[in-house]
Amino acid sequence: MIQRIYHLKRALPELYELERLLERGREHLRISVPAHIPQPIDGQTLQLPFYVLEAGSRAPLAPTLVLVGGVHGIERIGTQVILAFLRTLLERLQWDPAIHEQLAQLRLLVIPIVNPAGMWRNQRANAHGVDLMRNAPLDACGKTAWLVGGQRISRHLPWYRGRKDGHMELESQTLVDVVSSAIFSQPHCISLDCHSGFGVRDRVWFPYAGDTQPWPGIAESLALTELFERTYPSHNYLFEPQSLSYTTHGDLWDYLYRHYASKQPNGIYLPLTLEMGSWLWVKKNPRHLLRYHSFFNPIMPHRQQRIQRRHLLLFDFLMSAVRSMPTWAPSDLQHKQHCHRQALQRWYPHEAWQV
Ligand SMILES: [Zn+2]
Repeated sequence: MIQRIYHLKRALPELYELERLLERGREHLRISVPAHIPQPIDGQTLQLPFYVLEAGSRAPLAPTLVLVGGVHGIERIGTQVILAFLRTLLERLQWDPAIHEQLAQLRLLVIPIVNPAGMWRNQRANAHGVDLMRNAPLDACGKTAWLVGGQRISRHLPWYRGRKDGHMELESQTLVDVVSSAIFSQPHCISLDCHSGFGVRDRVWFPYAGDTQPWPGIAESLALTELFERTYPSHNYLFEPQSLSYTTHGDLWDYLYRHYASKQPNGIYLPLTLEMGSWLWVKKNPRHLLRYHSFFNPIMPHRQQRIQRRHLLLFDFLMSAVRSMPTWAPSDLQHKQHCHRQALQRWYPHEAWQV
């Protein structure tokens, strides 16, 4: 036990902190560990828990918000912003009746560290060298960027998709199983998967990752985007389809969305990805260039704190937005077609499917 704490504090402080938070929040959280991810250390194997936390309503049709971090082990800041959110949430549950009332109306599912072995090793992929966000049995439409889009050449190269036999890695499969069972019976769901390492601005991406064509939820994406922009006009996020930046094979959210749409053809599920613009941190402090880790994570404590603070607003907004989806999502055909046209003008102004 003491040895485990020693190793966690050194190699995986995020998991150590998460377990401290779980001890404090036990009465408010439903905690499960659907998988353990093995990590060899000193001739033994440490089983790293894949934690799933649930809070709020247990009603079968409760709107559901899913927060995910640590899919890419090197992008520790994704997990850290979720831990910051959890810390605030648990504190508010001690004194704020408003947060209890809010949670009574929605279900919150949090998976803070999807890839604990990758995070332990400070690497993007899992322990088998597989990039979990390229691991779904799904090919992109058309050409993807060489390597970055996902490759099956070698696990020693980045962005390795895993074997072609259709079996996903334990971490990917567990994530898919947990999220499917939480959302496939729900008519209103949003997920937010927190990453870092692309661009200078914080982006909120929606699907598809593997297809440059507009996805079926684009009208609802526009409605959510405009809702956020009206509510927080001074915000700094860039809402857009991921495929405007690059396309990839095997995206787990594309995979989950397609299955959801087949189960709930009239439901609304918005799988979002927060891509924190870490290139700005590099630009502001060239010391980032000295360490691989620093391309994906802020190194200055003040910046780390600022980033943890900044995204609390987005998480709060999504809690309210998922709960009130019927009030802002386009419901009748005319409104939906209007939002669809607006979305095409905004994100695909030069494309053929505009007309
Ligand atoms: Zn990532």
